[in-house]
Amino acid sequence: MIPLVIKQIITIVNGTSYHIQDEKLIIKEICTDSRKITDQCLFIALVGEKFDGHLFAKQAIEAGASVVVVNHKIDDDIPQIVVNDTYIALGEIAEFVRDQSSAKFVALTGSSGKTSVKEMTATILQQCGETLYTQGNFNNDIGVPLTLLRLTEQDQFAVIELGANHIGEIAYTTRLVKPKSALINNIALAHIEGFGSLEGVATAKGEIFEGLADDGIAIINLDSCSDKWLKNLKNKTVWTFSIADSSADFYASNIKMMDQTVFTLHTPIGESEISLPLVGEHNISNAIAASALAISVGATLTQVKRGLAASKSVKGRLYPVRLNQTQLIWDDSYNANVGSMSAAIRVLATQPGYRVLVVGDMAELGKDAASYHQQIGELAKQQKIDCVVSVGNLSELISQFSGVGHHFIDKPKAVEYLLMLLRQHPTLTMLVKGSRSAKMEELIAEIQSKI
Ligand code: ATP
Ligand code: MG
Repeated sequence: MIPLVIKQIITIVNGTSYHIQDEKLIIKEICTDSRKITDQCLFIALVGEKFDGHLFAKQAIEAGASVVVVNHKIDDDIPQIVVNDTYIALGEIAEFVRDQSSAKFVALTGSSGKTSVKEMTATILQQCGETLYTQGNFNNDIGVPLTLLRLTEQDQFAVIELGANHIGEIAYTTRLVKPKSALINNIALAHIEGFGSLEGVATAKGEIFEGLADDGIAIINLDSCSDKWLKNLKNKTVWTFSIADSSADFYASNIKMMDQTVFTLHTPIGESEISLPLVGEHNISNAIAASALAISVGATLTQVKRGLAASKSVKGRLYPVRLNQTQLIWDDSYNANVGSMSAAIRVLATQPGYRVLVVGDMAELGKDAASYHQQIGELAKQQKIDCVVSVGNLSELISQFSGVGHHFIDKPKAVEYLLMLLRQHPTLTMLVKGSRSAKMEELIAEIQSKI
């Protein structure tokens, strides 16, 4: 972190201090997890649904924290700063640290592919200079400030993933980040329960542009609900991207998908032949999005080409698990919504051999959840998937409407059936996907242990 002096922190959070011997002491890190205390850190006691950081304040000091930030005075002589709301204080300190940084910030959101685009953008920008980027999925109103607090004076670029499960969350995080450019990767039916409708999702994601600087660049996907934002972005510089629409500023042509993907990338600064070691049309779209973000803060085409060539698939997101020369499982078990499930089916349809879709439920789809599962079944049928295996409640509909489905009440039963298919079909590609709650990776581990 960019170091701060305690006195500065007291001013930033407008707090009242108690038992602090030396206000000139330097804070090198901010911690919110009492199990991860480092020397000379500041412990912020957050209050969550399941935990209350105040219960660990004393323990944090004993473990080496210099000061704790709390909502109410702790009845002890530990060094503490009392504020109205520790959640707000976390954001205030993060924003201050961000303002000290001279890095160029880019932010991105979307229903699917945020982490994928974030990783690709970071891989490109690492070719240009020191780059901070969101770790894992730290993309909510706690994760984003914690990411900003990891900034160092050396960072020249920062790539920040913004996620939301309620209206206003991205408006808050984007104002902390103040990105030079902001991108919406796509809109799909995800977290419908939190947003009500596709329109609600679009509104929530659109909040990302509220944090843009006056000379900022808004980057939008022409293939996904772009009209809504185009209307609202009249006074901003807007860049567009699309997989194949040549009216977009960034698009691809000459796409060839084998075990890796090659295509010509068209950008306002020229064209480049790209080799991407990932599969799936959606990853081409993600790579184009990442190129636009990176070029918006100065990456050259050579850096884009090198960065994309070095991209790696992220575990659980179309991650190849090879069983032998001719049998492969695509582990896409990290999560699922209607958009990403459809993308996955289209990938499976291009794969060799007997193609098996293994699905768990898609969660958080609200009152129309059944009909979305039915649609996915119909898509599997249309894409001529050879066999669908489902576990869960709603996913039975995917099996049913695919016309080639087998539904199982639990994973062990499904595994038995899949092992039988693996024995029957020497060339086979299996794609495993479901929402986080479906934990479909358990099924892959089970197959691997039994094969
Ligand atoms: P989360 O909301 O959990 O943070 P995310 O938006 O970061 O998700 P990823 O983790 O990159 O997305 O990918 C999640 C799933 O979406 C993966 O299963 C992946 O196959 C699929 N996916 C990735 N990119 C796209 C895309 N552009 N369109 C549709 N599906 C995609
Ligand atoms: Mg993510």
